[in-house]
Amino acid sequence: MNGVLIVTGASAGIGSTTARIAAFSGWQRIVVHYGQDRDGAETTAAMVESMGAQAYLIQADVAKPKAIEKMFAKVRELKPGPIGLVNNAGIVTPHGSIADLTPDRVRHVFEVNVFGAIEVARQSVALIRDWGLGGSIVNISSMAARLGSANQYVDYAASKGAIDTFTLGLADELAPEGIRVNAIRPGLIETGIHAKGGQPDRLERLAPTTPMGRAGTTEECAEAILWLLSERASYVTRSILDVSGGR
Ligand code: NAD
Repeated sequence: MNGVLIVTGASAGIGSTTARIAAFSGWQRIVVHYGQDRDGAETTAAMVESMGAQAYLIQADVAKPKAIEKMFAKVRELKPGPIGLVNNAGIVTPHGSIADLTPDRVRHVFEVNVFGAIEVARQSVALIRDWGLGGSIVNISSMAARLGSANQYVDYAASKGAIDTFTLGLADELAPEGIRVNAIRPGLIETGIHAKGGQPDRLERLAPTTPMGRAGTTEECAEAILWLLSERASYVTRSILDVSGGR
């Protein structure tokens, strides 16, 4: 594939695995975006390149619109091609109830998970239009958007609810141009995000309560993402696919 796949938050977890499997599936040029974890991004890039694809490491804090602008200025230096965007970078907030929320905390989770994702999508759409070679977008939501995450992190859940709605509207807006926009809602997936949110034992506690009785893997998310991005899903837009083991 002569396209350019942009994966935000590709230094770890779902983003890293998606970049690796994308290279295995034939994407030749992959933008390995990262925030702070340069080592993680280099590991992802090495895996991508071991599959014979080209990796482009680009740093940007997605909470900062100017940084996203600079990131896309670098993407624009690449040879044009169809664009795939995996709008994945995100954070969870610490476990707690409404009394634990502070304005700063809520603002920050929205800056990263919502404002950042919308700005990355906006820049991607501008690039898809300028290059004129087509594109497809997959946003990474969460089952939290549907469950609400009471007594866990309602602010995080609300940020992912915004991603669901954004996906629907953007899909409608771009369908006439042939740009498909979809999302996945991961359930409980084995990544470092739970420990970063202060709950290293989250999967151990909750996975047995899910219909399939286990956590999901980053590979299982990546397969869904890459299918939605691909021509095999050419009549699929405005869809939000639960990758959650029935949760
Ligand atoms: P992770 O922590 O392993 O990866 C998150 C990535 O986002 C990392 O590369 C991190 O560096 C990057 N990131 C975070 N803040 C950033 C910032 N300000 N600027 C740039 N990059 C930033 O977590 P993950 O589980 O792989 O999460 C990926 C996505 O999946 C997130 O959007 C998350 O909300 C979503 N998700 C995960 C789960 C799960 O159970 N793991 C469930 C539902 C949704």
